Order: sequence, then structure tokens, then C-alpha cells
Amino acid sequence: MMEKYCSDAERIRENVLQIRSGLREAALAARRDPSEVRLVAATKTQSAERVRAAIAAGVDAVGENRAQELAEKWEQGAYEGVPLHFIGHLQRNKVKLLVGRCALIHSVGSAAVALEIERQADKLGLTQAVLLEVNIGRENEKSGFLPETLYDELPQLLALQCVDVQGFMVIPPAGVTQPNYFAQTKQLLIDICGKFGHTKSIYTLSMGMSDDYQRAVMAGAHFIRIGAAIFGART
Ligand SMILES: *Cc1c(COP(=O)(O)O)cnc(C)c1O
Repeated sequence: MMEKYCSDAERIRENVLQIRSGLREAALAARRDPSEVRLVAATKTQSAERVRAAIAAGVDAVGENRAQELAEKWEQGAYEGVPLHFIGHLQRNKVKLLVGRCALIHSVGSAAVALEIERQADKLGLTQAVLLEVNIGRENEKSGFLPETLYDELPQLLALQCVDVQGFMVIPPAGVTQPNYFAQTKQLLIDICGKFGHTKSIYTLSMGMSDDYQRAVMAGAHFIRIGAAIFGART
């Protein structure tokens, strides 16, 4: 009985340690300081208890995908001890569930969503840190800003008073290693900083999941978002 009770949390703990060591290995291979890279547990569909196990195992933050699920687990006290992030597709009408709860929203995919965050953050008298989701693979079915549109769209986003744009988030086409979309994203960040960096500091890259996080870390990721490799395959 006891052994069974312990084993799930124990497995999550071992998985987190394994990711930590893979993260460290990739960072050092790229001559980066491993502490520059934060491990975000992607907790969609996971119970509050399993989220707590990941936090106890030492993840740096947890990231949810659905605003409603986040609100429910928030009520259950699932997130205590680490910053809560939002990483899922974000619709305007869900923004108010997130502002004031999330330390960072990774997935702002349109100016309309950014403007709604501005409105809600202003109401609460706070500044909301966000990343812009970039559709780096230019996939039709994916949301996010196309890289080339950012040059036109950024000035109005950087002018927002209660939204702090800190960088980019990408989900590259699955299973594609060439071209290196992580390196392209890093280059985009460098180009954008060259153009707009004097107004606000845009420096953060959220990229890399269970199957490709080491490549993302080598290319310059600051947040990796890991689900299956921590919690097991989703059913
Ligand atoms: C589910 C999810 C992840 C984690 O994916 P895994 O392959 O399970 O590691 C990362 N980012 C986003 C946006 C996700 O929805």
C-alpha cells in the first residue's frame, strides 16, 4: 500500500531530476549557464496532486493550457510555491481568468489579445508580463504572429502601459529538425532587439518540449515547457 502510494510522486521526482540533468548537459555543451534556463512543468490534464508532486520535485514554474482548468486547480491550491504560467492557446474572453494569477503568459498570439490583457491588467492596477507566440514554421493551422508581421505590430504592443512584452514563445513544426527553427527564433529575437531593443528589453525565449528541449537549450531557450517527460504520456 505505502509503496504504491509513494511511487507516482517518486516517479515524477525522478523524471524532473532526469530533465534537470539533460538541461544541464545541453546548456554546458552550448557554453551556457544552466541556471539561465527555467524548467516549466506543462500540467494540462494533471491532477492538483500531481502538480504538487512536480513542484515538490523542484520545477521552476508550472504552465497551464486552459484558463478554466487553471481557475479550478487554483481553487484547489495546486500551484503553491512556484510561479504560475499560461502556455496554451489564449482567447480574448478567457484573459480575465489569467491576469492577476499568472506571473507570465507565454502565448499572446494577436494584438487583440494583448489589448484585452492591457484592459484587465489596468483594471487591477498591475503589469502583466507576456511573451508573444510566433508562428515560426508559418503553419496555416497554428496561431501566433508571423515573424515578418512583428516589425509592424510590435510598436503598438511595446507602447502598452500594463503589458510587459519580454520575448517570444514558439512551437515549431513537430518532428522537424531542419531548418533549425529554434535558431531562427533566436535570430529573430536578435534582429528585433536591434530594431526595438532600446525601448524595452525583449530577451526571453520560451521553446523546447519533451522531445526537443535539449536542441532548444542549445539554441538559446530560457524556458523549456515539459509535460510528458515529467508526467508520462497523456491519456
Ligand atoms: C503540452 C504542451 C507542452 C509540453 O509538451 P510535451 O511534449 O508533453 O512535453 C509544451 N508547450 C505547450 C504549449 C503545450 O501545450
